[in-house]
Amino acid sequence: SSEVICKGLSKTYPGRLEAVRPMDLTFHAGQTTALVGPSGCGKSTVLRMIAGLEAPTGGSITIGGGPPSETLKKAGLSVAFQDPSLLPWRSVRGNIELALSLARRKVDAAEVDQLIHLVGLSGFADTRPAELSGGMRQRAAMARALATRPGLLLLDEPFGAVDELTRQQLAHDLPGIWEARGTTTVLVTHSVSEAVMLCDRVVVLSPRPARIVADIAVDLPRPRR
Ligand code: ADP
Ligand code: ADP
Repeated sequence: SSEVICKGLSKTYPGRLEAVRPMDLTFHAGQTTALVGPSGCGKSTVLRMIAGLEAPTGGSITIGGGPPSETLKKAGLSVAFQDPSLLPWRSVRGNIELALSLARRKVDAAEVDQLIHLVGLSGFADTRPAELSGGMRQRAAMARALATRPGLLLLDEPFGAVDELTRQQLAHDLPGIWEARGTTTVLVTHSVSEAVMLCDRVVVLSPRPARIVADIAVDLPRPRR
């Protein structure tokens, strides 16, 4: 399982900028949890520490009951951040196929097409990122993140540039996919409505330094798939 347990997790950046107050927080396996809070409160810092991209100042993180790197080697980690970081010289399909080969997963062309369709890019599978809009690039990055079927999926404002209508479509489709696959998902967003639409649980953080001010179960009927 890819349960994430943070104990006393804290972060102070050089220059004594305290971003995260020591916090205890468990992300349950197979659940989708939103981290919500005002801009600059420390949400991304928490996510980057879980991803192993930032060293905590204090406390510990375990994933699946052990050191993050060991669990993630087996279960797999995908990230989709606000900056989609697609390879510019590869098409949407090519970017997804590369992610699959890096994860040593075989390419199932039908499944890749399905994901591209899911994010509304059917007509753009062979298009390079430079020819796509910002929102389309973010959607391509989402398809890429899902393609490897990661045990842990970390999302940081993944829909910032996606238009409202498309966002609602994604909000309709994505929770069912995450649930069906048993993916543990953490979504960082400043949008409470996005959090409620997409997630089973919303953790609200205070203005910086981040500490937990509310932890709410979302009870919203979701489309089954
Ligand atoms: P959020 O994701 O909630 O907008 P962040 O985690 O990105 O917040 O940032 C929290 C605080 O830490 C902000 O004041 C930000 O300027 C600061 N910060 C973020 N990254 C760094 C860094 N690498 N070095 C120094 N300060 C940082
Ligand atoms: P998508 O590909 O998902 O349609 P785009 O990257 O093409 O997203 O465009 C971003 C979306 O954000 C636009 O479709 C539009 O709805 C919205 N948008 C773009 N620019 C602005 C703006 N200046 N103010 C408000 N909304 C905007």
